[in-house]
Amino acid sequence: MPNMSPKKAEMPKQPAEIRKRNFLEVATGYTKEVAMEEATRCLNCKHRPCVSGCPVHIRIPDFIKEVAAGNFEQAYDVIHQSSSLPAVCGRVCPQESQCEARCVRGIKDEPVGIGRLERFVADWHNAQEESAVSKPVSNGRKVAVIGSGPSGLTCAGDLAKKGYDVTVFEALHLAGGVLVYGIPEFRLPKSIVQQEVDTLRKLGVKIETNMVIGRVLSIDELMDEQGFEAVFIGTGAGLPRFMNIPGENFCGVYSANEFLTRTNLMKAYKEDAATPIMHAKRVAVVGGGNVAMDAARSAMRLGADTVYIVYRRSEEELPARAEEIEHAKEEGVVFHMLSNPLEILGDENEFVTGMRIQKMALGEPDASGRRRPVPVEGSEELLDVDAVIMAIGTSPNPLIKSTTKGLETQRWGGIVADEHGATTREGVFAGGDAVSGAATVILAMGAGKTAAAAIDEYLSKK
Ligand code: FAD
Ligand code: SF4
Ligand code: SF4
Repeated sequence: MPNMSPKKAEMPKQPAEIRKRNFLEVATGYTKEVAMEEATRCLNCKHRPCVSGCPVHIRIPDFIKEVAAGNFEQAYDVIHQSSSLPAVCGRVCPQESQCEARCVRGIKDEPVGIGRLERFVADWHNAQEESAVSKPVSNGRKVAVIGSGPSGLTCAGDLAKKGYDVTVFEALHLAGGVLVYGIPEFRLPKSIVQQEVDTLRKLGVKIETNMVIGRVLSIDELMDEQGFEAVFIGTGAGLPRFMNIPGENFCGVYSANEFLTRTNLMKAYKEDAATPIMHAKRVAVVGGGNVAMDAARSAMRLGADTVYIVYRRSEEELPARAEEIEHAKEEGVVFHMLSNPLEILGDENEFVTGMRIQKMALGEPDASGRRRPVPVEGSEELLDVDAVIMAIGTSPNPLIKSTTKGLETQRWGGIVADEHGATTREGVFAGGDAVSGAATVILAMGAGKTAAAAIDEYLSKK
């Protein structure tokens, strides 16, 4: 008999009052007993709707069945056939709009905690004695991967397993992309990403950090002079957008990318860190996605008394993961919905002293299908803040395009690539946010996998 409990087994987490002042992981994970109990809520449905909700089609009922039977390593094997980053995706996937959105149990009650179970299985596997990773026999053919985010890491891993001589070129001093510089430690411990990077090294992948392709070396040089027969571009979309309102150049205005990079990658929150960051007391974060929630919750952990989320649509349209919104609220972040910044105010030394905002109402749906926010006349308000963080989106950096012959991009900067990741330049493939614009970890990982298969096919015919 399946367990008909209407609710998912509770995820243990640090109390809000304590966690809002530390960078330790918020949710501490299921025990094996709780995981087995939650797994018995799955009905093992014949038509498997949950599988079609997962962008990489993990055989969800099969892995959950193994969890219910206590066969955790077998459960891991099932997941690993489709996903190379389960400990990451179990934590950060927007399950409520993917796998769990299609779960039959979710029609009447809460869906099965698929993400929580995936996280449990991956953590259980990672905690076991390390199994030796055998280095595949080399086929001697060189492939370059540019960028070490989820798309690049996945592409590199899949190609290395097939015997390619893979070098990853990463602009920053640490590999992992957004997983290390963007998503904070309290949501995704960096040791998990490090473990993935270490596994790649054991497979023989070379990782060269501090290598900005397009500056230090170009793709043309890699292919024409250094013997790389194919290239994968997984450079993400890290170029922040701003609103172009007065005062955006004042001291105390950050892009979310800069703020989170200083906090996460450069550990600015540690007392002995050399990286400067403003420990503001009253912070406004503009935006409503995961990036905005991460920035707001990080500002709180850096010592802010008041943190506002300023978002121009209503709560219903907030694009962040439901869990992050819930956690941010529990930690005391104040949500200013239907509000649009007009101007950032500063003192005579150009330090932020406040932000003028205008109330919005929702009008007719726009091209995205969401109702367009329209200003409400005479509804201006003043927010008393000493720092503003802009989290209103990012675009791909134009550096690669401007230094690579024959590489076409869209008007907004995304690299043009077909469904296999092939770009307009022969031998050059691309995937992840660099192609799609800012999206999700699982989609970037899937694109890296698809491109690795296409690169293998391309080189096998060459
Ligand atoms: P990235 O992860 O951006 O990696 C690109 C890498 O390329 C970077 O390391 C960069 O330094 C490097 N690079 C760039 N240019 C060059 C160059 N010229 N030479 C060499 N290297 C270069 N997604 C979710 O699914 N769930 C979440 O909860 C979530 N939260 C997020 C929170 C934040 C703060 C951010 C910023 C994003 C979040 N995302 C989330 C989105 C997700 O992280 C991205 O969609 C994903 O990381 C994209 O992967 P990628 O491999 O395309 O690129
Ligand atoms: Fe769900 Fe993401 Fe896991 Fe797929 S990878 S099953 S969408 S949590
Ligand atoms: Fe199990 Fe839900 Fe998938 Fe059905 S839809 S197999 S209940 S996870």
